[in-house]
Amino acid sequence: MAIYVKKDNTFEQAEPVSRECPHCGAHAQLIPIATPSFEAIRSAGPRQVGIAFRCAACNEPRFGRAAVRSIDTVSVELSSNIIEVERAQQRFPYSYLPAAVERLFREALQCYNADCHNAFASMCRRTVQTAIADLGSNARLEWFELYKDVVRIGEIDEATAQVLETVLFGADGPVPEIGADHAAVLVEMIKDMAYQSYVRAAKLRAAMRMRRYFAEEASSKITSLERHRAETA
Ligand SMILES: [Zn+2]
Repeated sequence: MAIYVKKDNTFEQAEPVSRECPHCGAHAQLIPIATPSFEAIRSAGPRQVGIAFRCAACNEPRFGRAAVRSIDTVSVELSSNIIEVERAQQRFPYSYLPAAVERLFREALQCYNADCHNAFASMCRRTVQTAIADLGSNARLEWFELYKDVVRIGEIDEATAQVLETVLFGADGPVPEIGADHAAVLVEMIKDMAYQSYVRAAKLRAAMRMRRYFAEEASSKITSLERHRAETA
């Protein structure tokens, strides 16, 4: 399924392209809004061209590259395999993290998005070390329990689990070299651990505070109503 730029600059896509949007996260159609001109491609003969799209869900711009397959006198054929320039970002409720942990964790996930797997692994270790320092004496044990939970729930094989344990908790030794495979598991692992440690606790405490506040307010109203009744009886 190819894409064509015709002599009159019309842009023909046999099938619409849908991808996960780096802005809104929706799996939405890419609508072409700025496409290369036929004459410009013919005169420059590039190997690839750039196309600007609009996200059908959120209207944000999205940029793609497509290989030029052939150029003739009436049309240019482009590959339908559009490579997006911007990647979907990893989503995480960063506001629940203390500033020092947030800085390192954001950078860790940026490394993952950029396919810098070993930089990602090193930043994961720094994130864990900073979180443990922030949370106090039992935190190392607690974070290790969170790691074991993910290994169990995620049914992670022993060899992978061993490598990731050294990445996260190998305090003195070097961070082992990892590839895309290990990084894919590690990203879900570290996100879950940070969520369980910071986000879950904060949300649970806030929800309970709120319920107790309303419960106390309701019971104090009942008490004052009863007192009022007793006084007026
Ligand atoms: Zn979008």
